[in-house]
Amino acid sequence: MSAPSEIQVDRAARTVTLVWPSGERQPLAAAQLRRLCPCAECRRKRMMSEGIEADAQLELGELHPMGYGVQIEFSDGHARGIYPWVYLSQLAGEGG
Ligand SMILES: [Zn+2]
Repeated sequence: MSAPSEIQVDRAARTVTLVWPSGERQPLAAAQLRRLCPCAECRRKRMMSEGIEADAQLELGELHPMGYGVQIEFSDGHARGIYPWVYLSQLAGEGG
């Protein structure tokens, strides 16, 4: 799984758009990414059907590309999730 050729962060629109080497653009909403956070804590919450609060007002903090994926900080203070590229590529587009 290769990394996106570009990661476009639009803080006003609260979206992260991944531009893949194929040229395909994949916009993802901050709230969607937050709900699908792959960290152990959030995976446990989803498994227990506790749900993860992430409303439309949630903003993006810093993004830290790590080679195999990207760590994403959110305005709710959560920054544990490192999203592997392969995981992101399998997410549906904006919405979710
Ligand atoms: Zn998490």
